[in-house]
Amino acid sequence: MSKENKKQIVIIILIFVFLIAVGIAYMTYMLNRIEANTNNSIETIVKNDADNLKNEITEQKAILQSITNEILADNIVDSKKIFDMYERSDITSHFIRMAIMYEDGRTITNDGYEKDYSDEVEKFFSDNDIHISENMKSRIDGEEITIYSQMIDLENEKIAILLIVKTDSYKDTFSNKIFEGKGFSYIVDKDGAIIVSANTDKGTGNLVNNIEQMLVGSSKERFKTNKSTVQENIRNEEAGARRLQTTDGQYYMVYEPIGVNDWSLATFIPSKAIAGEINRALLTTFILAIIVILIILSICIYVVISNNKKQKQLFEYAYIDPVTKKGNIYYFRKKGQEVLEKRKAQEGNVTQYIAVLDINKFKMINKAYGYQMGDTILYGIGEELEKILGKESLISRYSNDYFAVLFEYEDNIRKIVNKLVRNIENLKIDSNVYNLSVNMGIYKLTDSDNNIAEAMDKAIIAHSVSKGDVFDKYHIYDGKMEKELEKESRIEHEMNKALENKEFKVYYQPKIYVKDETLYGAEALVRWEHNGKMVSPSEFIPLFEKNKFILKLDVYVFEQVCSDMKMWKEKYGKEPVISVNVSREHFLDEHFLEKYMMIAAKYGVDTSKIDLEITESATIEAGIDIIEIMNKMKALGFLISIDDFGTGYSSLSTLQDMPADILKIDKSFVDRIGKNEKNMIDYILTMAKELKLITIAEGVENKKQRDYLLEKGCDIIQGYYYAKPMPEEKFEGYIEK
Ligand code: C2E
Ligand code: CA
Ligand code: CA
Repeated sequence: MSKENKKQIVIIILIFVFLIAVGIAYMTYMLNRIEANTNNSIETIVKNDADNLKNEITEQKAILQSITNEILADNIVDSKKIFDMYERSDITSHFIRMAIMYEDGRTITNDGYEKDYSDEVEKFFSDNDIHISENMKSRIDGEEITIYSQMIDLENEKIAILLIVKTDSYKDTFSNKIFEGKGFSYIVDKDGAIIVSANTDKGTGNLVNNIEQMLVGSSKERFKTNKSTVQENIRNEEAGARRLQTTDGQYYMVYEPIGVNDWSLATFIPSKAIAGEINRALLTTFILAIIVILIILSICIYVVISNNKKQKQLFEYAYIDPVTKKGNIYYFRKKGQEVLEKRKAQEGNVTQYIAVLDINKFKMINKAYGYQMGDTILYGIGEELEKILGKESLISRYSNDYFAVLFEYEDNIRKIVNKLVRNIENLKIDSNVYNLSVNMGIYKLTDSDNNIAEAMDKAIIAHSVSKGDVFDKYHIYDGKMEKELEKESRIEHEMNKALENKEFKVYYQPKIYVKDETLYGAEALVRWEHNGKMVSPSEFIPLFEKNKFILKLDVYVFEQVCSDMKMWKEKYGKEPVISVNVSREHFLDEHFLEKYMMIAAKYGVDTSKIDLEITESATIEAGIDIIEIMNKMKALGFLISIDDFGTGYSSLSTLQDMPADILKIDKSFVDRIGKNEKNMIDYILTMAKELKLITIAEGVENKKQRDYLLEKGCDIIQGYYYAKPMPEEKFEGYIEK
């Protein structure tokens, strides 16, 4: 996971946590609000109920008062008249009956009962005030009743007027529907005794027990507020509300004095019922909150995903090579730099290398197989590199057919490099094998490397040493290389000027017939006269082959030779065979022979007097049809020499197919003459004769070698024994003779 991704995830988590926190805070707030609202509305309902009750009782008291007033005013003693008064009015609807009690306890009712209440007389005859009784059982019909009573002082006697109410009728004034019948309302007296229960079932026994216990006192401590207990509140006719825990569960209790008889109305709502109400409201809020959170979250996730996608795309545009699907140069530099930094931090406990490799003459492969196949081959190389070096290694194509890799390897580096070269040179794609030629430069990272570009340069230096070399496939960087390269770059810097300034001179080394020691011709060898010093071809020819300057130089030498030949012909009327070296670099250019032809024509030189020397190794170069080139040479009239024969690996049969004229036996074979070593020279000479080739022995330095060659039938000798390469003026002397 990238740093950027981690950051994004942290931000999303933070947003999420924030939303949850806000949600919880909001819900808690809502919960409290809802609860307060619910409690408020419960309190309001209870207050209303209490008011209704109070009104009802006040009204009933007023009725009693008006009856007693009338009786008193007219001093009515006749019970029948009193009952008539009651029955005539519409007040009967409030009461179940009226009774008149006499001081001896005799009591008569409007509906014809007569009972003795002498045991209760005191209660009704104490004063002139209106009294409302506690809830009691009727002695007439066993109903629960409440009695309104007032004593009247008549002229001759005292009577008490009693209006009897069915206690249960108070129920109608309560909001029975409170919390859909889940709540319980009671009228209680100041001692907490239940007078009326609004619910027919009175609540469960437990609740009633609890309430009574609470109100009557044994558990009063539990309900103590900082000021007073519920019990004290009710005794003092104070309103209040509180949450209370009973063995039956939690209840919200509201009590309100009625203002009559020290009664209070007490309502209990199970917390569960309130919670149900709250939960319903809360659920809506909760669902809404969840939806909002989910929307915000999915927006965040969408933004992150599309952002990541875009970044990935940008990364691909910037860092991925479309052909190999591996990294490009920028990727290599970026990741490579990270590797160097990590290495520094670990103080280089790992052995790591940078290798740079390229495919020789990849252009030819594109030409031969087509560009699409060329791309497939490049892709295959990338895959092969990854297969051998592992997925953790850094693999990139940094341009055309150049790859750069950075990898860890603890074993002998040559092992893996050999494997890399072998596998890539025999690249297998879909069971087809493609023969490629690879060169590689390897640099071992050190702890002082802190710049990837510089480290890569060292691998490139090592690569440039082996570049184009068929036999030396790779080089491992060492310090000397840099000096060599510096020298090379100095030469490169000066070569074009040298050509303009005619610093390149053509020397001639005579070729002598062994038999009669007459002149056959000469080989043209280039010399560089630089700042008064003669620079040897071995110092610049390999470089010029690498940087292709040899193409210009060879043409220059060829033109110089043609010009000299023209001059000799005019001056001496003689035309010796002159050989010129043709670098293999020319063979990639189809038209190079036409250029040579034009130059020869320009000087009127007979091409049959010009011998083109091709090195044996050039004839086996991959991707070049040397036979075709040689046939062209022949068709134009040139002679052909196979140079340095014996150093390459060409077989007799390949030589047989070549339209060559001359075989130049390499100096190394001549050196071995008379040294009791195994020497192929006899065999080469016999074979050449069979193929009807002229044989020239190179580098003959002494008489012993000359005599041996004469004996074995070699045709021509070129070597210090007869003459070293010499300037044109000196060679003219040979022609003259
Ligand atoms: P080469 O084509 O094999 O040339 C023969 C080399 O052997 C020459 O070296 C010559 O001076 C040297 N040599 C001849 N006889 C003797 C001998 O008896 N003893 C010793 N020790 N050396 C002998 P040189 O001139 O230094 O050239 C070196 C190479 O440079 C040539 O090898 C040739 O490959 C290349 N070269 C020289 N001039 C040209 C040129 O104009 N064009 C191209 N393409 N290559 C050139
Ligand atoms: Ca030569
Ligand atoms: Ca040679």
